[in-house]
Amino acid sequence: MDNCLFCKIIKGEIPSDKVYEDDLCYAFKDINPVAPIHVLVIPKEHIASCGEITSENSAATAHIFEVISKLAKELDLKDGFRVVSNCGEAAGQTVFHLHFHLLGGRQFGWPEG
Ligand code: 5GP
Ligand code: ZN
Repeated sequence: MDNCLFCKIIKGEIPSDKVYEDDLCYAFKDINPVAPIHVLVIPKEHIASCGEITSENSAATAHIFEVISKLAKELDLKDGFRVVSNCGEAAGQTVFHLHFHLLGGRQFGWPEG
C-alpha cells in the first residue's frame, strides 16, 4: 500500500525504533507510548485491521501472537501485559494497517485504562 504509514515503516522509508523483525512481522516502539513498554507488532503484509483477517492471511496474525509471547518474556513483563488491537474509528484506530499494541510495565484498569 503506497500511502500507508506502517508499510513505509516496514520498508524503512520512515524511521522507527525496531524491537524485532522476521519474514512475517515487524515490531517497533510506539512514538507516543501510553505505558513504560509500548511496542507495536505488525504484519509485513498490508492488512487494514482485525476486521480484515481471513483464512488466507491469518497465518501472520497467529505468528504475531507467538512473537508477542516471546517479546513479553524478553521484556520481562512477568507481572502481566496487555495486547490491544483497535479496529475501526469508533474503537480508536488511527493507522489502518493491522497492529497489536503490546503494553506493559504498569498496572492496567479494566475496561478503561
Ligand atoms: P491506533 O490508534 O491505530 O490503535 O494505533 C496507532 C499507533 O501508532 C498509536 O499508538 C500512535 O502513537 C502510533 N504511531 C503513529 N504514527 C507513528 C509513527 O510514525 N511512528 C511510530 N513509532 N508510531 C506511530
Ligand atoms: Zn500498510
